[in-house]
Amino acid sequence: MPFADLGLSDELLKAVHEAGYSEPTPIQAQAIPSVLMMRDIIGVAQTGTGKTASFVLPMIDILSAGRARARMPRSLILEPTRELADQVAQNFEKYAKYTKLSTALLIGGVSMGDQVKALEKGVDVLIATPGRLMDLFERGNILLTGCSLLVIDEADRMLDMGFIPDIENICTKLPASRQTLLFSATMPPPIKKLADRFLSNPKLIEVARPATTNTNITQKLVLVDERKKRDVLRGLLRQEGVDSAIIFCNRKTMVRELNKSLQRHGFRSGEIHGDIDQSARIAELEKFKSGQINILVASDVAARGLDIKGVSHVFNFDAPWHPDDYVHRIGRTGRAGATGTAFTFVTKSDAEAIENIEKLIGTKIERLKLDGARDENRAEPAEETAPESGDSRRRGRERGKPADRSSSRKKTEASEPVEQARPAPRVDDRRDASQPSQRYDRPAHAPRQRQEDDGPDDGWNGPMPHFLSVKLGD
Ligand code: AMP
Repeated sequence: MPFADLGLSDELLKAVHEAGYSEPTPIQAQAIPSVLMMRDIIGVAQTGTGKTASFVLPMIDILSAGRARARMPRSLILEPTRELADQVAQNFEKYAKYTKLSTALLIGGVSMGDQVKALEKGVDVLIATPGRLMDLFERGNILLTGCSLLVIDEADRMLDMGFIPDIENICTKLPASRQTLLFSATMPPPIKKLADRFLSNPKLIEVARPATTNTNITQKLVLVDERKKRDVLRGLLRQEGVDSAIIFCNRKTMVRELNKSLQRHGFRSGEIHGDIDQSARIAELEKFKSGQINILVASDVAARGLDIKGVSHVFNFDAPWHPDDYVHRIGRTGRAGATGTAFTFVTKSDAEAIENIEKLIGTKIERLKLDGARDENRAEPAEETAPESGDSRRRGRERGKPADRSSSRKKTEASEPVEQARPAPRVDDRRDASQPSQRYDRPAHAPRQRQEDDGPDDGWNGPMPHFLSVKLGD
């Protein structure tokens, strides 16, 4: 079906054509005509399916008639993270270039002054993270009574991040007669409940998970000893013809350590995670997009939904604990028709995680063929010390004590849950830290608690496969 059959205006079709899209993706083909007919929508779709354009495009046409009034945005898009909000704003810039629509971005971590000024001028599209929106609402800077179109994007992620009470609160401030579009990769019961309560006769549109259908991504598991991960990673980065790569770690401390280690070894790498402030995160992303750095070490939350063209490789330096995260992570490569490769490092203790991932995606992932079979029963030879252990010893000395892997791991775990495992992340707004348990009770469906419970993974102590003779790409 061509874009021209969806009922979009000529200006929009021109912008879509200039974006280089020849035909709508399945979610766009199904959602756009219904949104234009003012129906409520539940879109069960992930990033990578073209879901952003499926709401941005019809919104532009719907809003192009009418004018914004001061402090009364005409539409609202809620995003779980600042990066996603920023990306949606960029989508508006791209597609709405032949219209006069105004957008404003309300995200935490940047000054409120400019945001308030933008609101004063009147905005057609307000793109916000829930925390900052509630802040400005409570200060009286926004009136939501003129908001006739609401988009709740990545609803399941909102749930994971504890934003559902805020979303419910926001929904009650909007006019009841509005149009509501809800997008979510999965539909756990609390999201279903939210939809039942705040959507009216919605059309349900479900599209396949990109990772289960995206044959553009070559997936491989790399069986590796925990202590050799960095060696193996560096080898792959050098051997694999990596143009640009995102490397995922499960913990923020590991993101930092790995980035430093890569830089020490001469790689052009950077890092993003929840502890880095917004302007630094944006700067790091810009460096990655412009090619100034070609490796980005990332945590799940910071990298969720990032749409960066031309990422040739994804490395799961740590196998994700949550199978959905695997799908999101590898979806950063192989985008928009390009091909990509995803390597997942697997240590002995990752067996269950891998089993869950394979169950979710419905395929068995190829195990990388290594030269020299691994023998799990053999004790690791003492002399086979990875070069990185030197780093680890050095770190120990820097802290003024001998390197103690187990104690430093414990510390890492204790410092990590802010980002994912604890139900009080409020990444865009920490003002409610005083009452986390009330506001951010982790829903029963979310198994992320495992992240805190997981003990240190010190590998399986088997002999390291001879990495440098690893055969790749077969
Ligand atoms: P999203 O799922 O919204 O994150 O979009 C994923 C990627 O697909 C983005 O890079 C979009 O620019 C791209 N995209 C969106 N719609 C189309 C389309 N109809 N044809 C090709 N690429 C598209």
